[in-house]
Amino acid sequence: MASEASPPQCRLYRDIEPNQLPIVYSSTYNIGFLGLEKLHPFDSGKWGRIFTMLCQDGMIASSRDIVEPLEPTEDELLKVHEKSYIDSLRWSVNVARVTEVPIVAMLPNFIIQRKVLRPLRYQTGGTILAAKLALDRGWAINIGGGFHHCSRSEGGGFCAYADITLAIHYLFEHVPTMGSAMIVDLDAHQGNGHERDFVDDKRVYILDAYNAGIYPMDFPARRAIRRSVELRHETSDDEYLRLVERHVESALNEFRPDVIVYNAGTDILIGDPLGRLAITAEGIVQRDEIVFKAARSREKPVPIVMVTSGGYQKKTARVIADSILNLWTKKLISGLELDGSSSL
Ligand SMILES: [Zn+2]
Repeated sequence: MASEASPPQCRLYRDIEPNQLPIVYSSTYNIGFLGLEKLHPFDSGKWGRIFTMLCQDGMIASSRDIVEPLEPTEDELLKVHEKSYIDSLRWSVNVARVTEVPIVAMLPNFIIQRKVLRPLRYQTGGTILAAKLALDRGWAINIGGGFHHCSRSEGGGFCAYADITLAIHYLFEHVPTMGSAMIVDLDAHQGNGHERDFVDDKRVYILDAYNAGIYPMDFPARRAIRRSVELRHETSDDEYLRLVERHVESALNEFRPDVIVYNAGTDILIGDPLGRLAITAEGIVQRDEIVFKAARSREKPVPIVMVTSGGYQKKTARVIADSILNLWTKKLISGLELDGSSSL
């Protein structure tokens, strides 16, 4: 909780220049080595491709238009994580379990730290920074992050750091006006990491819409969900979008958060071997629009930070870039006007 005295500055927060967009990305996000992408149903260069597409499509001219995050130190991770968990990542066999890539167990840990964990740490720093920028600008997008299966004491499902928990913890710690947060988790999987972390924390409201018939089926963690939307295999656009619209609206009528963390996983996309839902690319674009509209067009808009989470088919990067461009075209996200106020 914030104290009466001015809270200490967070090293991971960086100021944003008026000409920059609150989009957070670093080329260090991308994991590329030893053909990892061939061993996992996983496009490990997804984040870089999204950034390139946003440049090609004219929303961003260069990396100077966006904000680069910093890598969290071990001490910064330990603000949330248990030391025994962070120490466990020094053993490649444990990282192999978290990332679900067996060959990782065979490699020296210094390589794993540099090639796998460092990119994930940068993405974690990205979520922490983006959450703060959302308060400054009304919205922010981390092109990576969304490791919603990782809790303070355990990783899994390719999630090695609890970036959502960390981002919310840092806001509570460093922003005196921050009293509550809502997590809207629309990845295909149940977000059991942040759920375990916030299970008894009334300041955090969790809406989770997930395929109830797939990993992780974490029943104890479900206690933390204030609004649960359980989906069946092959749920399609019409039903899904109706549910999202109704429940996001109801959640915001029920609970008034100071920030929304939107976990916008795209493994709901039709054909995803893990998500097993049947949402089209257009459906995902509409879903993100519904969530941003609900947050941004309220009488008193709620700051929203989006993270990209799961969804690693080759076509996923295009879907996410299209969705961000749609939000931009519809003016649900925008830069600063010349008078210095947000244009929404
Ligand atoms: Zn997922």
